[in-house]
Amino acid sequence: MKAIALFSGGLDSTLAMKLVIDQGIDVIALYVNIGFGSTRDRREHMVNMCNQVGAEFLEIDIREQFLRDILFSPKHGYGKNFNPCIDCHGNMFKIAKSMMSELGASFLISGEVAGQRPMSQNIKALKVVGDLADSENLLLRPLSAKLLSISIPEERGWVNREKLLDISGRSREKQLKLAEEFGLVDFEPPAGGCLLTEPYFAKKMRDFVKFDQLEVEDIDSLKFGRHFRLKDGAKLIIGRNLDDNSGLQSVKSSKFSSLEAVGVKSPFALISSSASEDELNFALQTLLSYTKADIDQEYKILFNGGEREYFAKPFKNRENPREFAI
Ligand code: SF4
Repeated sequence: MKAIALFSGGLDSTLAMKLVIDQGIDVIALYVNIGFGSTRDRREHMVNMCNQVGAEFLEIDIREQFLRDILFSPKHGYGKNFNPCIDCHGNMFKIAKSMMSELGASFLISGEVAGQRPMSQNIKALKVVGDLADSENLLLRPLSAKLLSISIPEERGWVNREKLLDISGRSREKQLKLAEEFGLVDFEPPAGGCLLTEPYFAKKMRDFVKFDQLEVEDIDSLKFGRHFRLKDGAKLIIGRNLDDNSGLQSVKSSKFSSLEAVGVKSPFALISSSASEDELNFALQTLLSYTKADIDQEYKILFNGGEREYFAKPFKNRENPREFAI
């Protein structure tokens, strides 16, 4: 017997898998990549958690579909920020369900806990998520199963309901105790990861979609750097540290061109390819204002790695660009 678990890399989904694996079920840990995971590459961590409980790790990329069908038109609205959690979960389960026959799985598992999150995990919302996914009661939530109506895997005796749990609410106490019992190590704090739940990220998203259509290649530009919206609508992004610089360097969107100053330690920056001349000049000065450049000296700035070269001085008043900060 095999099950597919929706796997986020977090402790709850790892525990849910462990409870089912301990009942002799093979589990595929399905990580559904919607594009808004944390800025760190968590693959290694996820594989590590799977190895600890004996689940098989599988990742699928649904970024295009998520942007097209869910992110901007969630039927059940957003949580506190840009997170359409109910629709997002429902969509993930629907996709997992559609993979069941191909993967030879008989049911689905999730690490959801009743009452843990205000929007997506109150008992009513769990039902809505199941309905959205058209899960036909094949969805088992091992951590809260005893508080929920009986699912097919329990009814048919594929899993023993008595060995499942009745955890509810936001306290992590029971999960931490279980993790200790199971000998799990290196797990992350809860709810880490989804940038859509973060206020500043949500603000950048709202700003982006006011001016442009968000495409998959644009997502990474929102994850890194200090963001500015310039007077004619161009976007300027300046790296704040080495991680930002390398993150911005990996952005593949044709909507942006890069800027980097020469002769002074320079952050890496992106500017909208459609920027006006005024905006570009402003961006050059802004970039230099985030370096230790001498305010009386002119510096060379490489546009797209040297495709063009510009010369500029930093602003005399380094506060100047702040009014355009997002
Ligand atoms: S937190 Fe993010 S990934 Fe999780 S359900 Fe909500 S929107 Fe989807």
